[in-house]
Amino acid sequence: MSWPFGSAALMVATSFLAGLAPPPDLKPSEWAEQSVQIPVGNAIPGLISFDNAPYQRGPLDMTADPSCHRITLKWGAQVGKTQLALCAQGFKIVHDPVSQLMMQPSEGDLQTWLTTKFNPLVEANPDLETRIATPRARKGVNNTRMKSYPGGFIMFAWSGSPKTQRGRSAPFIVCDETDGYDRTAEGHPVGLLWERANTFDDQRKLVEISTPTIRGISWIDHAYEQGDQRQFHVACPHCDTVQTIEWSNVKWDKNAEGEHMPESAYYECRANGCVWSDTDRYFAIRNAERLGHGWKAKKPFRGHASYHLNGLYSCFVKLKMIVQSFLDKKAAGDLQTFVNVTLAEAWEEEAETLEVEQLIARAEPFPSKVPMEVGVQTCGVDMQEDRLELERVGWGLGEESWSLDHQVFWGDPLKPEVWNQLFDYLDQTFDHESGAQMRIASACVDTGGSGGLTQAAYEQLRGKQRRNIFAIKGGKGWDNPIASAPKKSKSGKRARPVTLFTIGVNDAKLIVMRRAKQDTPGQGYCHWPVDRDPEWFHQLTAERLVTRFVRGFPIREWKKTRDRNEALDCRVYAYAALKILNPNILMRLRRLKPDGDHVAEDETAAGEPPEEAKPKARKTRRGKTRRTRPRGSGRISNR
Ligand SMILES: [Zn+2]
Repeated sequence: MSWPFGSAALMVATSFLAGLAPPPDLKPSEWAEQSVQIPVGNAIPGLISFDNAPYQRGPLDMTADPSCHRITLKWGAQVGKTQLALCAQGFKIVHDPVSQLMMQPSEGDLQTWLTTKFNPLVEANPDLETRIATPRARKGVNNTRMKSYPGGFIMFAWSGSPKTQRGRSAPFIVCDETDGYDRTAEGHPVGLLWERANTFDDQRKLVEISTPTIRGISWIDHAYEQGDQRQFHVACPHCDTVQTIEWSNVKWDKNAEGEHMPESAYYECRANGCVWSDTDRYFAIRNAERLGHGWKAKKPFRGHASYHLNGLYSCFVKLKMIVQSFLDKKAAGDLQTFVNVTLAEAWEEEAETLEVEQLIARAEPFPSKVPMEVGVQTCGVDMQEDRLELERVGWGLGEESWSLDHQVFWGDPLKPEVWNQLFDYLDQTFDHESGAQMRIASACVDTGGSGGLTQAAYEQLRGKQRRNIFAIKGGKGWDNPIASAPKKSKSGKRARPVTLFTIGVNDAKLIVMRRAKQDTPGQGYCHWPVDRDPEWFHQLTAERLVTRFVRGFPIREWKKTRDRNEALDCRVYAYAALKILNPNILMRLRRLKPDGDHVAEDETAAGEPPEEAKPKARKTRRGKTRRTRPRGSGRISNR
């Protein structure tokens, strides 16, 4: 192949092709600092330097590391993600010429990137300019879809256009602003590109870059979690304590009128409260790697390096500007933008609420017996001053659930009568559609309360763990397991201890809420009986998740929207009872086959395999995932 270059350029190209490549151990960051000119019109034109953004070196050099196939940058604004990607692309063109693909969210984004980033960079750098074909060249390509250089092409695509994606593949792929991409029926564009790059085997490398969006939806947030999770560590310039720079340590004052004073903003050292000026912060960042800190991964590296960096790491932005931006966004009711763009954190969706009418509309007639798909029954019990409330839940594969019963046992929990009613209920067996008798496999009973209720619950529940009736209390905070390992606890001086499980109620409620919203049967779906009191549905929807800001730091919490919420609590406890027991539902369902042997339902958690069998999923022709039912339980629910 010959290339339409001027003679000097041709010489460069020929010498390269002749194998006179620069030393192979030249790192992309070294190459960039030696030869990449930042185009005029930028803040600091001239040769590129990473001294003010030292965190760019690590990921940039990773783009030439053969042990790494995926690089994720969950980065905030103004820390130079675009520049990093450009340097990686330039290095490939000059020193490792393979084909590349560059993806942007839209055609407009791609045009902007070409005109304001890529083309000016090429024009300012003869090294690149001489290699890239000219627009009207006889050989080679240079248009808005691709540009060629000796050894390959850089192709352009945007997520809204299947045409620009179809059939295009390259071993080196950069996807910019991935969280702005439109998902299609086939999947997320990044995932699809990556699959197509399969043909390049272990030569393929993906660089994905974005500020995140909403947790659970954000591509980059998920990708970061899948990688080795690196954060940039710096030393406090005053006490040398190594730490990451976090928004929760940004402080500022209010004046006598209670107005925020962003100009008073400072950074407080996490360890000793040392006060950092902007200069201190810049110093800490610039010197991090020299002092042996910098990027540190949370998880072992397995070919996927993921980096998180918030806007507080910018050595070009003063802290007071960031605080001002926070206050502005907050006033405008747009904190999500601040959290996503500046903090580079995924936003926790605020509106976790349920509409009663929708739930009631989905209620269905239940058979008198426990439905065929139910492999195990659990109960959740909530204690109030004058009663115990219970929900009995049937669980199938994928934690699909059936609300089988709701009971209120009236009486004073300080006295044994109401407890005896509860224990009698829990000792019953129920008719299963298979013909078997099914016991309640486990139950969780809340022990929270005042005026001696907690102690009374402990007295009643002591020793009941043998029967899988567990005493529980609600745990604080987030990201906790649904059920933690139990601890011995006692209430009162001479009381004997009871085994107490702590329940991650915040996380559990979120799961319950999200599942209750689901409107197609299958994994996680909740079936409600049509004859359930409407008040019960109101209780189930009695809380919503809100995000409150305490000194600028978002705190998520559940807020009651009405007084009574026992139905929600009972469901959370019934779910916890399932999690503590951790039964193998698939195996139980097989035993419940109408022609199978009916095995007693009194196995304990200890006798079960440690992992619940996951429902097998298979692709249907439309590409959706569908559950396969175990043989013998193919009943179509009578909705
Ligand atoms: Zn300090």
